Amino acid sequence: MMPIDPTQPYDDDNIFAKILRGEIPCNKVYEDDWAFAFEDINPQAQVHTLVIPKGRYVSWDDFSEKASDAEIGGFVRAVGAVARMKGLVEPGYRLLANIGAHGGQEVPHLHVHIFGGQPLGPMIM
Ligand code: AMP
Repeated sequence: MMPIDPTQPYDDDNIFAKILRGEIPCNKVYEDDWAFAFEDINPQAQVHTLVIPKGRYVSWDDFSEKASDAEIGGFVRAVGAVARMKGLVEPGYRLLANIGAHGGQEVPHLHVHIFGGQPLGPMIM
């Protein structure tokens, strides 16, 4: 897949929008009013889970500029809740959000990667 333009309008046909609407199957791990989490289809670590906001945001840039404080707070709390659910807090884990072409973002719906379950080294992805 090609990296996306993070300033593009939100595309309701992107793959994570379809997952949110239940049109494409996923291995769901968490859902609340603000966020939805599922296993990455191509895991890069023993634990590789994606957390997405329920709102229509292309990237972290879009989200941090336009989302309400409630959406941002709910999403950040959900990321932490998923990491705790997965038992990652001790010995630790890594969060990653790719933004735009230089970030290598491929899916135009904001997602935070949670990596864990093993020592991750200095960099992953
Ligand atoms: P990024 O490069 O940050 O946009 O990451 C996109 C991630 O989405 C990659 O790690 C893919 O493996 C993952 N991915 C793509 N399609 C699916 C899918 N249908 N279900 C779960 N993960 C997916």
